Amino acid sequence: MNSTRRALLLNPPGRQTYIRDYYCSKLSRTGYTFPPIDLLHAGAQFNRHGWDTEAIDAIVQGLSVSDALSAAKTAAPDAVFTLVGAVSVDEDAEFLKALRAQLPHAVFIGSGDVLREHGRQWIEAGLLDAVALDFSSDAPVRFADGEATNLVDLIYKTAGGIEQGSADTGNAKNYSVGLPPHELFRDFPYRFPFAARTPFASVLSDYGCPYRCSFCVMSQLHYHARPLDEVAAELDLLKALGIHEFALWDQTFAISRPRATGFLDLLPGGQDRFGWTCFTRPDCIDATLAQSMSDKGCHTVIMGVETAKTETLQAIQKDFTTPEMKAAFSACRKAGLETVATVIVGLPGETADDIEATMDFVCHLDPDYLSVHTAIPRAGTQLRRQMVEQGLVSEELANMDQSGETAVLSSDTLSPQDILRMRKRFNRRFYLRPKFLLRTAWRNLVNPHRLLEHVRQGLSLLSKNA
Ligand code: SF4
Repeated sequence: MNSTRRALLLNPPGRQTYIRDYYCSKLSRTGYTFPPIDLLHAGAQFNRHGWDTEAIDAIVQGLSVSDALSAAKTAAPDAVFTLVGAVSVDEDAEFLKALRAQLPHAVFIGSGDVLREHGRQWIEAGLLDAVALDFSSDAPVRFADGEATNLVDLIYKTAGGIEQGSADTGNAKNYSVGLPPHELFRDFPYRFPFAARTPFASVLSDYGCPYRCSFCVMSQLHYHARPLDEVAAELDLLKALGIHEFALWDQTFAISRPRATGFLDLLPGGQDRFGWTCFTRPDCIDATLAQSMSDKGCHTVIMGVETAKTETLQAIQKDFTTPEMKAAFSACRKAGLETVATVIVGLPGETADDIEATMDFVCHLDPDYLSVHTAIPRAGTQLRRQMVEQGLVSEELANMDQSGETAVLSSDTLSPQDILRMRKRFNRRFYLRPKFLLRTAWRNLVNPHRLLEHVRQGLSLLSKNA
């Protein structure tokens, strides 16, 4: 073990505000950003193996390409763990080429959506030495330490060529990353619309998702969970750093009710409460759990509705129903939790009338906020295979924006123009309701930070959906 070795945790610069995180990448619609969970967990593994870590988030720090190159050179790392995104694939490749020329002796390891499918080509092109197929694994730091055999969860260069590890497919494997280096990211000016205060952190207590939704890359990752005592130590670290707000990036909170209860038991109540936001599914939450979450500081719950059409819900394997959605949103409201519904426009087989029906349903459901996505054939998903088979996208397609801001694809029933029009109409219909405007203003009058953030986000959303 050599404590003088330094790893740089890097989110590269971009011409626009990109989100690259957890095998997703997109254009940030309203300028929101948050500490990338990949870098936090990879950093924890490097620290645990005796490395020093430093972080550059060029997106949130607003660094140009030359500023980022100069900051990386000053850091003089022995290893670089960098994010790469499908949304910014060409820019990222160009930047890495320049960075490698500047740091010829550093080991380069990448993580990101596009690399899960095309990682080998990035190594062949000399842009990376290894690709992490699971950012929470210790394989990247072991590779940086010189190991060159039996590294699962990694594609990596060896003296004889390139070894193609495969992501470990064991189910419900427990894993441990150690303590993520939150101190490196605490003072960057992240902005997250649901954070009630700053600074705020990104926390992940499990990895992947055991559900099987056909459009979602999380269904392709082997689900595993961290020991709760390690999560407890991380929460203590946040408190010690003066961070009292976090976004829980577990893809589905309360997959297991006993584990959810165990997590809630870790959290202080009363004045010492953390404020937090989480993601869950309508069939994982009920009135009792919603109340317990609210008692322990949860203020916002994000749930995927996707569509109100029963046949589509079955086809995309959501495995829940519209009555379950109504019950879950109602339970959260009664417990005082704010809700965010996410929907997808342009799912296979859906017509403009189907999307109108989903708009009616969502307005009736009346969540506090709405996020409208377009169907994107993300690497490794069943939806991608289906769209390739239907000739709607090429197998080679790598440049994708999950937000649908920069590229919208046709579905089997709607043109890109139709999908874009429907997405804008969905946003306008939801956000221009007097009920929404009055409620949001009233609720946030007592919290100037959130009110300002909502006004900023609202103006940005409206300008993009005019
Ligand atoms: S429940 Fe959510 S995170 Fe899990 S596979 Fe479905 S869409 Fe993805």
